[in-house]
Formats: sequence, structure tokens, C-alpha cells
Amino acid sequence: MKTHMQAAVVEQFGKPLVLKELAIPTPGPGQVLVKTEACGVCHTDLHATNGDWPLKPGLPFTPGHEGIGIVAALGAGVTAVKEGDRIGVPWLYSACGHCEYCLAAREPVCAEAQFGGYTKNGGFAEYIVADPNYVAHIPAGLAAREAAPLICAGITSYKGIKETQARPGEWVVISGVGGLGHLGIQYAKAMGLQVCAVDIDDGKLAHAKRLGADAVVNANDGDPIAAVIRATGGGAHGVLITAPSLGAFKQGVGMTRKCGTCVLVGLPPGEFPTPLFDVVANCITIRGSFVGNRRDMAEALAFAADGKVRADIELQPLSAINNVFQRLGHGDVPSRVVLEFASH
Ligand SMILES: [Zn+2]
Ligand SMILES: [Zn+2]
Repeated sequence: MKTHMQAAVVEQFGKPLVLKELAIPTPGPGQVLVKTEACGVCHTDLHATNGDWPLKPGLPFTPGHEGIGIVAALGAGVTAVKEGDRIGVPWLYSACGHCEYCLAAREPVCAEAQFGGYTKNGGFAEYIVADPNYVAHIPAGLAAREAAPLICAGITSYKGIKETQARPGEWVVISGVGGLGHLGIQYAKAMGLQVCAVDIDDGKLAHAKRLGADAVVNANDGDPIAAVIRATGGGAHGVLITAPSLGAFKQGVGMTRKCGTCVLVGLPPGEFPTPLFDVVANCITIRGSFVGNRRDMAEALAFAADGKVRADIELQPLSAINNVFQRLGHGDVPSRVVLEFASH
């Protein structure tokens, strides 16, 4: 029986991760041990490693909140999963389960929430300890490497589209055709919506068309708000801003139809000016959305199991993580990198 595992550990903020041999953790009461098969690399992992945000993780820690693997051992009292199940250990690692937000299935904003690969060790390791009450249950037939990006990027874009409350047949704008946006286009089409994709890169817009977008608008071409209003016959019922750009936020409000909803999931630093007259007189809702609850997770995975949504992925070994971070920092990663672990 193996006693040690490989892990990529943050020992100091802003420094390369250190590949280490650590003892395989033992799951305590109410916990499970997961043998990692694959883990996606998200921009948040880079922020965690650099200590960019006000609430910093405690050092040392192992990043990664898109880990998928097989339950290898159960702590005392666990009944929610069994050995051999394929599960995911997401950003929402656990929550209190009884505050007003948890009771309303809004557990991502629970004050007691713990975060995978941030306040808890994550999936850049051969084994992960997880809370079985909050893991993602991966449907049969969905490979670990396919599921990995969906438990963060997938649920974030899917929940964001749900939060627009657009109905089948109505228009949504997906602003930004990157890691979140390319999934958002596929979710929106699968949900029966008409999609107008907005980006500043013609190559990404061509990809958006291949993924099913009904219309595309290059935001650097003339007046993108007017172009969206033309394409959608009066503005989109829902707008999802995935681009981490303040310009995209401001444009997104202008692209929203009267009584429509503009949902923000991108996280550029700073604040953006809101055209109050338009928001008030056109009854527009501006809403933030942050990952999703466990039901949203099951739904986001079900679309993929049914073949309706598929992430663009690039496979790398754990040992390549510092190179991947370097490329991510330079905006040089066209699709989601998934770290794949050898099966023994
Ligand atoms: Zn993420
Ligand atoms: Zn709570």
C-alpha cells in the first residue's frame, strides 16, 4: 500500500509551486479520501498562489478546485458516497448547512463556507480529502478529464445563464468566448436560448459559431451595443459577462433589453460606472453570480453526460504546473488545462 503522494504545494506567495512527496492523508469522521484522476487549472488557482485576494489561504497549501477522482476510503459515519464512486471536489468545499443562505440553497455565500484548493487542500495532488455532503457526483460515462472544467467553469457559466431568467427562444449575450464563455454558449443553446457571442478576437468568434452561436459581434468593430440591439431585435433578454474587462461590463448593460437581466461572473479589479437613467427607466436588473449550489452542479454535469456540452481541454502532467501558471499569467492558454494523473 502506497503511503506517500505527489503534491504541488504553495510554500510562499508569488513563488513557484514546490513538487513534494507528502503522506497520504487519512480521512477523519465524516470525510472521504479521493484518488485524483484529473484536476483543471483555473485562474483562481493563480490568484491563490500569488496571495492576490484580501482573504489569503494559510501557508502551506495545495491549490486546485476542479479535482475529479475515485473515492478510495471512507471516514467513520460516511453514507453519502461509497468506495469506487467518481466524484469532484469543487470550489464550494463545504458550508454550514443551516444558515439563512444554506436553507435557501445559496450555500456559496454561506459565511462558514470552505473553499477547495484555498482554505482546504485541493486537487493538485494524487489524493484529496473531501466533505461527501458537498462533492459533485460525476454521471456514468463522463470521463474525469471532461468533468474537471465543468465543476468550476461549467457550473459558473450555467448558473450565470440561469440567473438571467431568459426563457427558451429568447436571446442571451455571452460576452467573452474564453474558458467560461465557450461553455456558456453550449449551455445556452442546450437550454433553448438564442445566443449572440461577443468578443474582440475573430478567431474566438469563429469558434463561437462552431459551438452554435446564432450571431457574433466583435466588440472592437464600430458600435457593439448597436450591433447587438440589431441582431437581437431590441437587446438581449439576458446578458452574461464572463470577460474580465470593465469595458465589457459597461457594454453589457447597454446590450440588455428592457426588463432584462445582466449577470456578472467575471472578476476584473475595480468598479464600473452604471448608467442609472437607463437602468431605472428600462427596468434592468444587474446581478452578480458566484459558482452555484449542488443542484446547479448536478444539472451542469447532466448536460455534459448527455453530450450537449464539452469543454476544450489541454492535458498536462502535474509536473508541468509551474509552466502552465506562467502561460496562464501571460494569457497564453487557449483552452482549459487539465492536469491528468497516472492510474496505478
Ligand atoms: Zn475556478
Ligand atoms: Zn450556511
